[in-house]
Amino acid sequence: KKAPSRRGSYADVPHSLMGQINKLEYLFTVSGEKLKEITDHFISELDKGLSVEGGNIPMIPTWVMEYPDGYETGTFLALDMGGTNLRICEVTLPEEKGEFDIIQSKYRMPEELKTGTADELWAYIADCLQQFIEYHHEGEDLGKLPLGFTFSYPVTQHYIDHGILQRWTKGFDIDGVEGVDVVPPFEAALAERGVPIKLAALINDTTGTMIASHYTDDMMKIGCIFGTGCNAAYMENCGSIPKLAHMKLPPDSLMAINCEYGAFDNEHLVLPRTKYDLVVDEESPRPGQQSFEKMIAGLYLGEIFRLVILDLAENPDVRIFEGQDYNKLKKPYSLDASFLSAIEEDPFENLQDTHDLFTSKLDLRPSKPELELIRRLAELIGTRAARLSACGVAAICKKKDLQPCHVGADGSVFNKYPHFKARGAQALREILDWGPPPEPVFPPAAPGGGRLARRGSASSQTNAPPKEPDPVEVLPAEDGSGVGAALIAALTLKRIKMGNV
Ligand code: BGC
Ligand code: MG
Repeated sequence: KKAPSRRGSYADVPHSLMGQINKLEYLFTVSGEKLKEITDHFISELDKGLSVEGGNIPMIPTWVMEYPDGYETGTFLALDMGGTNLRICEVTLPEEKGEFDIIQSKYRMPEELKTGTADELWAYIADCLQQFIEYHHEGEDLGKLPLGFTFSYPVTQHYIDHGILQRWTKGFDIDGVEGVDVVPPFEAALAERGVPIKLAALINDTTGTMIASHYTDDMMKIGCIFGTGCNAAYMENCGSIPKLAHMKLPPDSLMAINCEYGAFDNEHLVLPRTKYDLVVDEESPRPGQQSFEKMIAGLYLGEIFRLVILDLAENPDVRIFEGQDYNKLKKPYSLDASFLSAIEEDPFENLQDTHDLFTSKLDLRPSKPELELIRRLAELIGTRAARLSACGVAAICKKKDLQPCHVGADGSVFNKYPHFKARGAQALREILDWGPPPEPVFPPAAPGGGRLARRGSASSQTNAPPKEPDPVEVLPAEDGSGVGAALIAALTLKRIKMGNV
């Protein structure tokens, strides 16, 4: 869905506020040159993560050791514990190549669960699975259904059906789970309730996304998530994973790597952090971790925006919302990425939707010039996220010499945030030197004052001739934590049957 275009004007923005807009542009704009520098450092960090010594980026071997051939069959359960929802699927893979059927139920993850106890977490998940099975298979004798469990946090895996949680991400903070294998307590909760399920594989959402996407398009070589968190997975050759050398795996055999590259630049060498990014980090449950993710992922975009706006309201030289009570702005995480999306999607010249949003959500009535600043800030934060996120994809493509290829992407930011795809594609073009874009794809930077014409994607206005696809295309993925998890469960059971465990 394309956000509508709108012609903005800075004509009546007073000098002092214009100065602020220019400052924000300077702070949040990442040049093509900088993107290249970040990407180069990214490549060396991916390599380091595969080395015996290790680095910031975990680069976790997942024991998913092949792509599906499209002819996988069987019925599998898939459980997706993401950042926001719990989803349970029953996936049937029929004889036909690349086909699947899926039934699913979603359960909201109660907010308290994210900071509660481990027992509560596993009990809640086991209850949901029990409900699902009772509802769909009442009275049937199922034997034990194989399950692919998508647990989208960094876990160290020595086998495919185990995983030691390295650390929580995405705002989770449950005691007693970090540093331990998550499978035994999960299975114990199932056993206690007599739920007839056998965990076949513990999976990261990125790995699931890569496998599900490859099932229907064998050009897909990378799976990415741009959602509450951000991360990617790709296939490595075992011979290029020094930290697995002791296992003496055939050098040409494949191993899916869950990069966990949200942790990129935890040592703070290249990312252009602002003081607002530092606050996001300091106030998070895990300061110093997921540095890249905290500038990109949906969980943080609204918070970065809130911190900037609050800072401007409190700054005596700027005084936005002068004379108004901006107390509601002080609540951490009260604005989410959908708030920013709505601002960027406001189609009205006078930014009426944005005005109404501020009034209903924050009891604030921004002036017209303040609305222009608000809109520009949302664009800047959204654009920075999309451009930085391209660095991780570009780094894998360069490291593995993957051009041309397809990248399967999923997550709320990728699917719903306005212009995210076009801005990310533009950044990839700059990093990978594919020459200038065929058309403008996101609003140009504002000149130092005066009138600014904002334009949406030109293709929404003209009937441009179809253009050559880019060498690397980031496309909407197949359902990784449903179909992908089922496929990985199927591949695992096949491997066990063949005796290559
Ligand atoms: C997690 C990853 C996950 C990503 C996207 C990150 O916070 O560490 O495991 O793939 O979010 O869900
Ligand atoms: Mg998910």
